[in-house]
Amino acid sequence: MSTDRGLVVILVDGLSSKAARHMGCLEGMVRCSMGVRKDIASELPPISKPLYHCIFTGSEPSLTGLMGNHHGAPKRDPENLFALARRRGLVTCAAAHNWFAELFGQWDLGQRGRFQDRPSGDISAGIYYFDDAYPDSHVLQDGEWLIKRHRPGLALVHTMGVDNAAHLYGGDSDRLVEAVMRCDQMISRFLQGLVNQGFLAIVTSDHGTMPSGLHGGTSEDETTVPLWAFPKPPGMLMEAFEGTERQRDMKALMLEFLKVVRRDVKDS
Ligand SMILES: [Zn+2]
Repeated sequence: MSTDRGLVVILVDGLSSKAARHMGCLEGMVRCSMGVRKDIASELPPISKPLYHCIFTGSEPSLTGLMGNHHGAPKRDPENLFALARRRGLVTCAAAHNWFAELFGQWDLGQRGRFQDRPSGDISAGIYYFDDAYPDSHVLQDGEWLIKRHRPGLALVHTMGVDNAAHLYGGDSDRLVEAVMRCDQMISRFLQGLVNQGFLAIVTSDHGTMPSGLHGGTSEDETTVPLWAFPKPPGMLMEAFEGTERQRDMKALMLEFLKVVRRDVKDS
C-alpha cells in the first residue's frame, strides 16, 4: 500500500491512553492490521500550547520557556516541522486551534486570521478556531477541504471535543466517554479516506486529564497518551515508530515519515 502521498497528523486534544480504551473503531482497525498503536509519554507540563510547540519542534517546554497557555509564543524555531516540510517543497495545512496559527502560522491577522491562505508563516493554508466548543465534525470537514484544495505533503487536523468535555464534565465522566466515542467514529471514517488516497496518518494527543478534568501535573492520566499510525508504516518507518517513546521525539518520527513523501505534489 502506498504511503508517499503525504503525512496527516490528527491531534485529539486531551486524550489520555486510559480514555483511548473507549475507541473501538481505531482499535478494530489495529486488530485487522490496518494500523499500529503504542503509548508515549507526554512532556511536562502537560498543558496544550507548550505541548503543541514541543510536538512540532522537539523542544521541551522547560527549555523554551513556553510553560502555559497564556504565555506568548517563543521565537519561531526555523527547524519546526512545518518549516522543514516547506523547505522540501511541500504544501503544509492546518485545521486547528488558533494557537497553532500563533506558533507556526501568521499571527498578526487577528480574527481575519481564522482563514489563512498562503500567509507568511510556515503553515501554507489554515482554518483555525478559537472556541473550544468548535465541533470535531467541523474540524474534520475543514481538514478534508484543505487537503482536497491544497494537496498538502503535511497536514494537521486538531480536534478539541475530548478536551472540552473533560474540562466541562470531568475526565472520568459519561460525557467524556461520549465525546471520545464520537471522535473515534468520525476519525476512523476520515482515516479510511486518507489511507485510500495514499496518505500515512498518525493519531496522537497532547496530554490526558485527571478525573477532575484538570491537567498540568505528573499523573499517569495526564502524561500517557496514545500514538497510532495508519496504515502500518513500511520497513524502517516501523522501526522509527516502535523506537518513539516520548513526545519530544515526535518531530523526528514525523520527519522520517515526511522523507518518503513525493515531492511532485508541490505548492502551485
Ligand atoms: Zn490540550
